[in-house]
Amino acid sequence: MLNEINKTEQHLALIVQPLLAWYDANARILPWREQPTPYHVWISEIMLQQTRVEAVKPYFDRFIRTLPDIAALAHAPVEQLLKLWEGLGYYSRARNLQKAAGLMLDKYGGELPRSYEELRTLPGIGPYTAGAIASIAYGIPVPAVDGNVLRVVARLTACSEDIGKESVKKQMAGMLKQILPDDRTGDFNQALMELGAMICLPRGVAKCASCPVAGLCRARELDIVTTLPVKAAQKARRQEQKTVFVILAQGRVALKQRPAKGLLAGLWELPNENSCLTTAKAQELLALWGVRVDAIHKLPAAKHVFTHLEWQMTGYAVYAANCTAGLIWLKPEQLTENLALPTAFKPYTEQIGVLLATQH
Ligand code: SF4
Repeated sequence: MLNEINKTEQHLALIVQPLLAWYDANARILPWREQPTPYHVWISEIMLQQTRVEAVKPYFDRFIRTLPDIAALAHAPVEQLLKLWEGLGYYSRARNLQKAAGLMLDKYGGELPRSYEELRTLPGIGPYTAGAIASIAYGIPVPAVDGNVLRVVARLTACSEDIGKESVKKQMAGMLKQILPDDRTGDFNQALMELGAMICLPRGVAKCASCPVAGLCRARELDIVTTLPVKAAQKARRQEQKTVFVILAQGRVALKQRPAKGLLAGLWELPNENSCLTTAKAQELLALWGVRVDAIHKLPAAKHVFTHLEWQMTGYAVYAANCTAGLIWLKPEQLTENLALPTAFKPYTEQIGVLLATQH
């Protein structure tokens, strides 16, 4: 077994030079690559978790302009931080950024720590992100293994084991650690990620004809590219029914704050209930909330997909007699300027202007 791993490692080592040469000529120009300071690398890597590069670009620029360093991030009002994150999803990432920034001020002189192990102790920084920051910002020879890299390595080595298994990830990280070039460790890690993002694409669309390491690829040699990587089937998403209310009164819309823990913790939302309510049941609930309904009508159904969960939403526009206590009432412009609302509610929040204009 060890012998096999050694052989695979030796074979993998052959990709280093051609991959770096390809990266030098083809790396995309990305805002965080222009000045790869540890702070920039960190913010970009956190934003890129679960989010596409093109979507991240404007967020990154705005974030860095507004909060240019660790101290600014640590001291930012939480509403401002969440507003900067609005639409990116997975808001715990923003909260963890701020917690980690506070720790950096307290323990590391206002800088990102300079070792993989210390980076790993910070909130929101897992093995991949620690590897990316350590190697790209500080040149420390550690691999950065994300889904793209696992796919590329599985294909290069014709590995047919489940890349979701920790043991397989560890084995791949171990092999990569052995072949990292001392002088260009960050570039090598980025080159592998770039290959995964641009050429060695998932779901049967790998551009092998343009691949700089095609001649070294075992999966291609064996004509099994489309069967790799192997990944155990993911569990089906949990479906959750929801009734969402756009409650309007006196030119304002009602909001409430989500609980401090759990999904979308602490964010603002349209009042809602975890079930699909008929108009009659919706009116009963509104009465319980103390809302005096002048008129109510149904809005189109909508859905929002999270990683492990799907909301199936029924919506109601509610014209209320007055702004009831127990809910927060805001003008539409306050909503867009000051507060962060989860994208899940967008199908309904984007109707607020029209609904207010037609209020009777
Ligand atoms: S040859 Fe194809 S499958 Fe192999 S690494 Fe290149 S793009 Fe991926």
